[in-house]
Amino acid sequence: MSGCGCGIENGAGPFSKGRELVEFVWNAHGGTVRDQPIRNGGLEAICQGCGEDFILQTYVGSCPHCNGVHAVAPMNPTSENIQFGGKGFTLAEV
Ligand SMILES: [Zn+2]
Repeated sequence: MSGCGCGIENGAGPFSKGRELVEFVWNAHGGTVRDQPIRNGGLEAICQGCGEDFILQTYVGSCPHCNGVHAVAPMNPTSENIQFGGKGFTLAEV
């Protein structure tokens, strides 16, 4: 998979895990991706911080229960590919 055109070749990428993926998506395409709605109304997610179900509606989003930050690579947005930024990680730190 190299057809994205992100120009990201060093380190973090769409196959990163956890916080690295969250930061990758946050910064992808100059920050224009993170707020875009995921097609088909979002992805069903299970928060990896508190275990509650929620819908990830944008490529970077927060759990409404604990504010845990989750993200999914825009090239492959499926529930299985949702990554969690880690406990205590908030978007204010990005
Ligand atoms: Zn949560």
